[in-house]
Amino acid sequence: MAVSPGDAEHLAAQVADEFGAAEQTVMGLVRDLLTPGLSRPGWARARTAASGLLRRALRRLVPGLRQRATAAAEQAVAEAHRLGDAAARRELELHQLPPGPDDLTITPTQRLARALTDDFEPVYARILRQPEDVYREVIARASEGVLDGQITRRRAAQRALDDFADRGITGFVDSRGGAWNLHTYVEMAVRTVCGRAAIQAHADRLTAAGHRLVSVSAPGGSCPLCTPWEGKILELAGPAGKHEVQLPHATDPGRTVTVQVAGSLMEARAAGFQHPNCRHSVSLYLPGVSVPPTAPANAHSYDSVQEQRRLERQVRRWKRREQTALDDDARTAARRRIRGYQADLRQLTRETGQRRLPEREQITYAH
Ligand SMILES: [Zn+2]
Repeated sequence: MAVSPGDAEHLAAQVADEFGAAEQTVMGLVRDLLTPGLSRPGWARARTAASGLLRRALRRLVPGLRQRATAAAEQAVAEAHRLGDAAARRELELHQLPPGPDDLTITPTQRLARALTDDFEPVYARILRQPEDVYREVIARASEGVLDGQITRRRAAQRALDDFADRGITGFVDSRGGAWNLHTYVEMAVRTVCGRAAIQAHADRLTAAGHRLVSVSAPGGSCPLCTPWEGKILELAGPAGKHEVQLPHATDPGRTVTVQVAGSLMEARAAGFQHPNCRHSVSLYLPGVSVPPTAPANAHSYDSVQEQRRLERQVRRWKRREQTALDDDARTAARRRIRGYQADLRQLTRETGQRRLPEREQITYAH
């Protein structure tokens, strides 16, 4: 079995769900604290005075979230490592080759898990600060709307809350300056680390079993970053750039086989190969025996995978809207949209055979 970063995707969704649930809780808190007396005079003053309640609720929320998220992250990284190792073992077994030593070191896994939980620190900081800003902003915008005489306070407050629901908790910036919301930031962090753990474990197992080469899959409709590497042979550890290696024939060690190598796995990955979400996999390449893949091994096109992600984002977006709805009309409208996008997802997954990932759509409201 080959291994690709996409194999770790469901692990990322589980961790991101912890944060998604917390985000939902925060939105519910903001809504619940804004609702009392919405149609009565003195609302803005009373609600401003109540902002301390929100602050205290947020402070109570974070320690539990941190604990659950840390546990989920450690579990995800360990599971990704296990997946990668198991994939390599199955490949070796398939060719009736010995798996190498039993106990490969898992120290890199612990280091990766720690790096991941460090990535979560800015999230806790934002959760403690941002909802209060939003809360004040909703009060300010609702009061302005009423002064203008254009719209009712309820509608103005709903609009401001809708904006919050759409954005989610924001303000995360990656190393390239891209802006993320909470869910995408966490998911990307986990996916990156878990993908790395799976691939590393796979490569470590093959190396420990005495192998040097892997080949890159050639899925149909691929991601542009990886196209140059499709069907190529890479060295697990070796010099960069195209070169030849001479190795004993896998089943007839007396013979020597010359293999054209496109570079090293590390070099390819540094150039963007096997980015987070990538469907490209690498598998053991046996000199003289393996044939590099050329035919599409995977029919799911890049576009239809992107379309699934888009629909999942919409489901999550309207679930947040449901959470910030101030009345039944807004809630019903949000639910209708959720069902619509879920129907689209059913159709897409039926047509393409892609696996539906309910955890990517399910953000539970944990009060
Ligand atoms: Zn790719």
